[in-house]
Amino acid sequence: MLGSRYPDKAFEKAFAQYETFPSYLQVSLGVARDLSREPGYLTLVLDDPFEVDPGTRLPTLAFRVFHYDPTFSPPGKTAVTCFLPTPNFAFWADLRRDDPERYRAEKHRIAQAVIAVLERRLPGVRGEIEVTDVSTPATVLRYTGNWKGSMEGWLMTPDTGFSALPQTLSGLKHFAMVGQWAQPGGGLPSGLLTARAAIQAICRQDQVSFRPDAAAVGDE
Ligand SMILES: Cc1cc2nc3c(=O)[nH]c(=O)nc-3n(C[C@H](O)[C@H](O)[C@H](O)COP(=O)(O)OP(=O)(O)OC[C@H]3O[C@@H](n4cnc5c(N)ncnc54)[C@H](O)[C@@H]3O)c2cc1C
Repeated sequence: MLGSRYPDKAFEKAFAQYETFPSYLQVSLGVARDLSREPGYLTLVLDDPFEVDPGTRLPTLAFRVFHYDPTFSPPGKTAVTCFLPTPNFAFWADLRRDDPERYRAEKHRIAQAVIAVLERRLPGVRGEIEVTDVSTPATVLRYTGNWKGSMEGWLMTPDTGFSALPQTLSGLKHFAMVGQWAQPGGGLPSGLLTARAAIQAICRQDQVSFRPDAAAVGDE
């Protein structure tokens, strides 16, 4: 977004050397069955690992069964999702760009394999599926703009630790970066931690006090 105009050694190192959390596919199913007797989260162990894409084989498939909130589906029906992590972002992005027909065929293959696994747990479910949607790492990039379709930003490793990257860039005023790309470990906590530090720095600059507890009950 900044057009490489504000180079920074720490970010250059991160982009060259840091690993990212994987990307993922998600198969979402609208099932015309009340699955409220199933657990909310199901991990099914496979007889043979499932090949998601070149280099990604999963020994289990995990399903979320959204029966605990009536707003997720009409009465008597249930939304079910299956999340398939993959580090092979390039495979999906390239396939979508270069060979849309095979991209569609691969999405179909994944959906059918996931449904076959669910069918083992819930006999007859295949005939009750009214909606099927498959998102891939290419979809993640398209909707979120996240680099490599990563689900959570920089992976924390022994090399990176929890150390935050710089939040400002030399020569760029009125700018602070927060979120999963500003602190290894990513996820929601990185958003809160880095945003807190950024607001603290802005308060210091504006010479106003930083009081994160100001909104607490009885503190006004
Ligand atoms: C399926 C899934 C499950 C997860 N589970 C967990 C969990 O259990 N625990 C956990 O801690 N974390 C989890 N995460 C990770 C967590 O959701 C993210 O790390 C976190 O939301 C990142 O926050 P962020 O503010 O850095 O970025 P985001 O929430 O991605 O916000 C970035 C925003 O910038 C917008 N944007 C992008 N490009 C542009 C542009 N060019 N112009 C304007 N706006 C733009 C995007 O639309 C988005 O709204 C999960 C992520 C996924 C995908």
